[in-house]
Amino acid sequence: MLSEFDLIARYFTRPPRRKDVAAGIGDDCALLVPESGSELAISSDMLVEGRHFFPDADPYALGHKCLAVNLSDLAAMGAEPVAFTLALALPEVNPEWLAPFSGGLLELADRHGCELIGGDTTKGPRNICITIFGKVPSGRALRRNAARVGDDIWVSGTLGDARLALAGYRGELPLDEQALATAAERMHRPTPRVALGIALRGIAHAAIDISDGLAGDIAHILKQSGVGACLQVDALPAGPMLAMQDQPTRRHFMLAGGDDYELCFTAPAPMRDAVLQAGAASGTTVTRVGRIEAAPGLRVVDPDGTVLDLKTASFDHFTSP
Ligand code: ADP
Ligand code: MG
Repeated sequence: MLSEFDLIARYFTRPPRRKDVAAGIGDDCALLVPESGSELAISSDMLVEGRHFFPDADPYALGHKCLAVNLSDLAAMGAEPVAFTLALALPEVNPEWLAPFSGGLLELADRHGCELIGGDTTKGPRNICITIFGKVPSGRALRRNAARVGDDIWVSGTLGDARLALAGYRGELPLDEQALATAAERMHRPTPRVALGIALRGIAHAAIDISDGLAGDIAHILKQSGVGACLQVDALPAGPMLAMQDQPTRRHFMLAGGDDYELCFTAPAPMRDAVLQAGAASGTTVTRVGRIEAAPGLRVVDPDGTVLDLKTASFDHFTSP
C-alpha cells in the first residue's frame, strides 16, 4: 500500500518546468515569482463524484476534464496559464485509477505549459478540486462587466453536443452508438479556448465561458454590464451531432445545455475582422450570434424576428442539466 507521500511522488511530482515557479511540490507552500505589470488570475473548480462525474468515469478523461474546466476560466479572462494545485479526496489508493488520472491531467497541463505546484491528498469520497493561477497584463483581463451597447455577441466553437450526450445517457433521446460516442467526446474532453482568450485581449470587451448553458451564462454579462441582448437563435452554431436533431432540441440544448466550455464574448462592431483573425490565429471558429442592446434582459429571436418564449413547453420539458 502506497503512503500519501509515495503516491504524490509517483503520480504527481515532476522536475520543475517554469522559471516563474521558484518552488513546486515538496515544501509547505509553493512559491510563484510574480511578474511586474501583470495581474494574477486565480480560479477554483471542484468536481464531486455522483454530481459532476459518474463513479465509473474513465480516469484519463476525468484528469483532462478537471483541469480543462479550470483552464476554461483562465481563457474567459484572457489569462495565460501558469500553475495549479490539486486537492484530491480518494476512497482508496488504486494505481489503476491514479495512473491514468494523472496521465490525462498532466498531458493537458503540459500542452498549456501549466505546472502542478502542490495540493493536498486525503481519504474520503472521490472529490477533485483544482485551483489554477494565470497571468494577464494589468488592466487587460476580459471582464464580465465590460459589455457595451452596440457590441456584437460571439461564441467560439459549437454548442450543445455535451448536453446531447447527457440526453443519450439518460435515455431522453434515442441516439445511435456512433452519435453518442462523438457527442460524449465533447462532454468528457472539453477543449479550453485558452489561445482564443489571449488573442482577444484588446479586441473583446466582455467574456465568459459557457459552463451552464449560453442563456444562463450570458445573463451574467448582461447583469454585470447593466445591458440587455438580442440573440439570433438560428445563428447559434450547433455541435455536429446536435445539428442532426429536431429544431426544438437543437435550440434548447444550444441555449440551455451545459458543459460546452466555449467562450461567449462581446466586441465592438468595428472589431469584426480582428475577432475573425483572433479565431483563425488560435484555430478556433468564432460565430457572431447577436448584439448587446440598452433594454435590459435577454431576447432570443427566430429569423422572422419573433421573440421566443424561453419557458415554453419545448424549452422546459427537459429539467435543468
Ligand atoms: P501539508 O502537511 O503541509 O499539508 P502535505 O504532506 O499534505 O503537506 O503535502 C506535501 C507536499 O505535497 C506539499 O508540497 C503539497 O503541496 C504536495 N501535495 C500534496 N497532495 C498533492 C497532490 N494531490 N498533488 C500535488 N501535490 C500535492
Ligand atoms: Mg496536506
